[in-house]
Order: sequence, then C-alpha cells, then structure tokens
Amino acid sequence: MTQNLIEVKNLKKYFPIKAGIIKRHVGDVKAVDDVSFNIKKGEIFGLVGESGCGKSTTGRTILNLLNPTEGSVEFDGQLIYDVEKNTFTKGEKMRSLRRDMQIIFQDPYACLDPRMNVGAIVSEGLVKHGIAKGKDAIEKAKELLELCGLRGANVNKYPHEFSGGQRQRIGVARALALEPKFIVCDEPIAALDVSIQSQVLTLMQDLKEKLGLTYLFISHDLSVVKYFCDCIAVMYLGSFVEEANSLDLFKNPVHPYTKSLLSAVPISDPTVKKERIILQGDVPSPANPPKGCKFHTRCPYVMDKCKETAPTTKEIEPGHFVTCHLVE
Ligand code: SF4
Repeated sequence: MTQNLIEVKNLKKYFPIKAGIIKRHVGDVKAVDDVSFNIKKGEIFGLVGESGCGKSTTGRTILNLLNPTEGSVEFDGQLIYDVEKNTFTKGEKMRSLRRDMQIIFQDPYACLDPRMNVGAIVSEGLVKHGIAKGKDAIEKAKELLELCGLRGANVNKYPHEFSGGQRQRIGVARALALEPKFIVCDEPIAALDVSIQSQVLTLMQDLKEKLGLTYLFISHDLSVVKYFCDCIAVMYLGSFVEEANSLDLFKNPVHPYTKSLLSAVPISDPTVKKERIILQGDVPSPANPPKGCKFHTRCPYVMDKCKETAPTTKEIEPGHFVTCHLVE
C-alpha cells in the first residue's frame, strides 16, 4: 500500500477579529475549520471550492507559513506541528523540512521580484540553503529553466520580459530548485490564458512523473481537477463536504454542494442536456457561519435538522467521504 506523505488531522486556522481602542478579541474568521485528510506519495490531491472557502489558507497552514490554531500535520513521518501537544518543529530542522515542501503561487506577475533577474530568482533557494553559490547556482538555474521548457540563456533577463505562461514556468523552476518531495500548487493556472493553462498543466504532470513529486493542487475549476487530480476534496466555508477519488466524485457526486458545482462545469457536446443547479444567496461569512450544516442557507434539500445539527462525515464507499444528513 502506498504510504502517506502528508497527514493532516483536525486542522483549524482562525484569524482573530479585534475591535475598539484596546483591540479586544471579539470573534474569529474561521478560514479553516476542522479539516482532516491524507495525501499519498506520488498523488495529486485536488482541493476545490468557491473563492474564500479556505483552500489557500489550508495549503499555507500545512506548510507552516501560517500559524495553525489547532490540529497537527505530519510530513513523511515527521511531525511539523501538533498544537494540542504544543509541539512545533523550528530552527534548523524546519529549515531542512522546508527544502522538501515548496509552493507555486497563483499570480505569476506578483510572485516574481521585478528587481531580480531570472537566474537570481530561480537560484535564490539554493543560495539561502547553502547548496550552491555564484556560477554553480546560475548553472543550476539554467538547468531548471530548461527542465521547465525555457531557454537557459534567459537567466539574465528580468520578469517583465516574459509572458504570463513563461513567468509561471519560472515559478515552477524556482519551486523545483531545492528538489522538493511535495509542492502546494495554489491556483497555478488561474491567472493564465486558456491556451497556456494546458501547457503548464502538461509540464507539471511531466515533472511529477520524472521527479516523483506529490502535489496539493488548489483550484476553483472542477473541469481542471477532473483530469489532473487522483483524489479531490470539495471545501465549503472552511470545511470539507465531500472527498473521493476523481472518477468516483464525477460519476457519483453525493453532497448537494458538489452536485451544484459539477452542474456548472461546461460540456463540449451540445447534444447533451444537463440540468444546472443554481444556488440561491451568497456564501455566508466565515466570521459568523450558520448553525448546524454550514451549507443549509443555500441547500435545495435543506431539512429542519440541518438548521440545528451539524452533520458528521460518513464513508459511503471505500475512500468516498460525505458530510451531509442525507447520507446518515
Ligand atoms: Fe443540505 Fe442538510 Fe445535507 Fe447540509 S446536511 S447539505 S443542508 S441536506
């Protein structure tokens, strides 16, 4: 059986809301609210949901770029943190763990420093971690750029000289510099033209095969994750509502929210008729989520108990988890 590379247990990330002159703590934005999942070695785990549902915060909290509020994360058998036991990996050990865990950001324009040339951007991690410097670091940057489909001679150019797709390739090359095992891909193609999106996805798939990588792939676009991810979790207001392998989720979606998201995915065959489920109302605020099931204010199948009692997560088939009273 394939081993887990990432194990996330009961992860919570709350951002405090402060008010008044003395900045009194008056509440919390519950960006990630009790999320548990595993990612197997070599797997692409997709995380989907509307903007603001906590996908990116989940990715960044796993990497310990944001301080967790509760929960624990293990990476390759090593504990990164366990808030309950007050155990946090710090210092040199965390620095060395960071080499194995990288991130690709959404915006290929904002994530590259315009004052640094491409060679310096791609090799920055190598220099900071004392792996290479000077000419060696630049040679390595050239190799990485070529691995990502760009010319090595580009090391002397600056980010503004590249298109969006090329910049994202530079971002991928930078993430690969430290030879990581795991990469959080935070909406890496959302800011790109459709024609460029498939090129970047193909590159990421090829690199995954070649280098044995594992991805957490964050996206709001279900049509992208369908073909790219092995396993998909659907997130709503900070919590998972459904998790399954990609084929199961698209063949047999169970949660009303997943069904509504899937009904919005366009299909290329004009003869196929599909019923569109249009959700009413806006997404509630994560600072004041609804009582009971968080989705009840928009759910077409809402029952009385949904408004009072939060549903528990059930495994309806091996590896297919649903959080809804309809399956209880
Ligand atoms: Fe809808 Fe109730 Fe299921 Fe929530 S628990 S998704 S409100 S049916």
